[in-house]
Amino acid sequence: MPRKIVKKIKKAVTKKSKSEMKVKELEPVMLQPPRGMKDILPGEQPYWEQVRRVTERLARDYGFSRIDTPVVEFNNLFNRSIGEGTDIIEKEMYSFATKGGDKVALRPEMTAGTCRAYIQHGLHLLPKPVKLFSTGPVYRYDRPQEGRYREFYQVNYDAFGEQDPVLDAQMIQVAYRVVQNLGIKSIQIQVNSIGCPTCRKEYKDLLVNYLESKKNKLCQDCKRRLETNPLRVLDCKEDKCSQVAAAAPQSVDHLCDDCRNHFKNLLEYLDELDLPYAINPQLVRGLDYYTKTVFEIWSGEEGGRKFSLGGGGRYDGLVKMLGGENTPAIGFGLGVERLILEMKRVQAKPYRAPKPRIFLAQLGDLAKKKSLKLFSELEKNGILVAESFGRGSLKAQLRVADKLGVELTLILGQKEALDRTVIIKNMASGVQEIVSVDKLVDVVKKKLKTDNVVTYHDNGNHNNHSENK
Ligand code: AMP
Repeated sequence: MPRKIVKKIKKAVTKKSKSEMKVKELEPVMLQPPRGMKDILPGEQPYWEQVRRVTERLARDYGFSRIDTPVVEFNNLFNRSIGEGTDIIEKEMYSFATKGGDKVALRPEMTAGTCRAYIQHGLHLLPKPVKLFSTGPVYRYDRPQEGRYREFYQVNYDAFGEQDPVLDAQMIQVAYRVVQNLGIKSIQIQVNSIGCPTCRKEYKDLLVNYLESKKNKLCQDCKRRLETNPLRVLDCKEDKCSQVAAAAPQSVDHLCDDCRNHFKNLLEYLDELDLPYAINPQLVRGLDYYTKTVFEIWSGEEGGRKFSLGGGGRYDGLVKMLGGENTPAIGFGLGVERLILEMKRVQAKPYRAPKPRIFLAQLGDLAKKKSLKLFSELEKNGILVAESFGRGSLKAQLRVADKLGVELTLILGQKEALDRTVIIKNMASGVQEIVSVDKLVDVVKKKLKTDNVVTYHDNGNHNNHSENK
């Protein structure tokens, strides 16, 4: 090899090894998610499953269709709808620019995305009211504490195209039913009306005048809110602000005729439904888009600490403001983690998954192969089966079957595999019988009394379902 080339190769090699040496030591992977976010482990899932079942079932019963929108939307969808002066937009939104330069954000709530989809896909052409249900994670960069996370889940119900307060009452009823069906009994509904843009303007002026006169008694945040979002001063949690809020003019005393009648009718409907509500003049909700009705669902013992499980209200101007037709609408969101915390606090039952009542045991290579198929045959027929295919010894498998408390064990050995038969062992009596594989499904169903057979295809109506009616 010419000396020149050898020199070149040597140079390249030393260059490479030098650069390799420069590679920094890799940072260890953090074995935890970012602050305020968490895993939902298998042990927690029965609570989540119960919430899924109850919320989806009520959505179906009250005529809501499911909609799923992206977790990421353009920034200005949220800025415009939720409002620039709100805590969510000012402090809590996860906003970022994509590699392509789009300004986007992780949704801090679900209504804005649902409205965007409603307009974009012409859903106003559907019969009114258009009722939509969605569920999924939302993100708020807030200080985490018990019941407050940076990633949390909401279930959201929205109805478009109806301004009659009968719909407000029905939405409140749905929220109440969700919480009640989850087994949470001490529920209180807080309602208020914050009027329409016309009467609210007058009320806002009055409120600002009052708050200005008490400015030195407000917290720093509220002094700022006085300029940006004075209504929010009313639901500040600071003691000194609550005292100022308690004596503030109330929006319900300054509603225009239309808003007053709307609110009066709503209360009559709530009375008719026998719902436990209280008018809360301090309830304003933190988002700019609300008009007329606002409400929250609280839980907690009489006189004890109260938890807000969810809330919502009317947003008659939002669809138009985002570029759609003039569309009255109302919606609410419930926080899943909060619902689950409350379920645990009051010891409400989580979902109990159906348990297999049959175990399939096998012995020998051929039997193992046949068992795999047999398992799937039983599954196709809606029969839930437990197995331990990885174990060779029959004794070990029967021990597992015993532990699971199954009623029947199906045993497949070399002989049975060749004869196309299966031994059915009654675990309580120990009695065994042999049946042909072709008749197995029928025989098993009969033994377990067909209507009691636990199936995968039960649409949540199985008698193991612990939903409260
Ligand atoms: P909001 O619209 O802010 O009232 O939120 C509706 C519901 O979502 C609340 O009543 C809570 O149940 C839940 N929620 C709001 N913020 C959080 C959070 N940071 N972590 C967990 N749940 C939350």
